Amino acid sequence: MTRAAAALALAAFALAAAPRVARGYTRSRNSAGVVVAWPSPQLVVHVPVLTADRPVSLLSSDDVLAATDAAVAIWSHDQVACTGVEMSAAVGASRDALAEKDDQNNVIFRVDSWSPQVFDEMGLPLGDYEPNQLALTSAWVTKSGKILDADIEINVFNYPVWEVSGDMSRLVSDAAFDLQNTLSHELGHVLGLDHSCWDPVTGPRPIDGDVPRPACADDPTLAEATMAPTAFVGDVGKRVLHDDDRKGICDVYPFDPGGGCAAAGGAAGTPALLAVALALLAAVHRGRRARPAQA
Ligand SMILES: [Zn+2]
Repeated sequence: MTRAAAALALAAFALAAAPRVARGYTRSRNSAGVVVAWPSPQLVVHVPVLTADRPVSLLSSDDVLAATDAAVAIWSHDQVACTGVEMSAAVGASRDALAEKDDQNNVIFRVDSWSPQVFDEMGLPLGDYEPNQLALTSAWVTKSGKILDADIEINVFNYPVWEVSGDMSRLVSDAAFDLQNTLSHELGHVLGLDHSCWDPVTGPRPIDGDVPRPACADDPTLAEATMAPTAFVGDVGKRVLHDDDRKGICDVYPFDPGGGCAAAGGAAGTPALLAVALALLAAVHRGRRARPAQA
């Protein structure tokens, strides 16, 4: 073999052997490694009635409902024509509800503690609660990947100031987190999407299937996605979907103009339940750029 031919062969081998480059949006998997999805993506998300004696920041029930209405809309068919997702918000959860499988998708404000409240039959906590989490979504799924129920918990215990104005200067001056921004991210988890990229503050680098998740620092488009793993004080960039988020939701739940939108890959459910929990991390300010909190 000539030197040129050898080099060519080596280059071809290197190309074939190079690790596959991840292609963007990531789907959540159950503990068996199966990607998860709702069998039918017509969902109602329930928000609590806030009473004067149990306030969350200074938010009213109307504030919370308006923020949730706006957050469910960005994932739904009216705003994203290529998806069959239809989510709506309704008042009807208790503010102090537990994140548990009750066949109702709830937004829960955790004011008095940020720790597990629900345990499995082995006594192990459901969810992985860390102080740097702004919010945590837990979904109950079958072994075959069918999502049955999902709840969003907002960490008011560690992050007491929440806002709905969307006014970044006001959010920053008050060190407030934007509720709509956070709910927009968590609703992506409710639908079965995982984080768009990996930030070292969130822990070890996940492997999706057999592909390492791309680092947020290497891809600004993934770092700016609604499903990016961190958020900072004043962050409102997750209020709108980005190209990667849209691609994910349309691939998993494509719009079927004939009606009867079926989730891609939905298999028959089995009785075994598995919990999937994902959080958004809060970033802490460092220099000019804010580091995110996890959500
Ligand atoms: Zn998250």
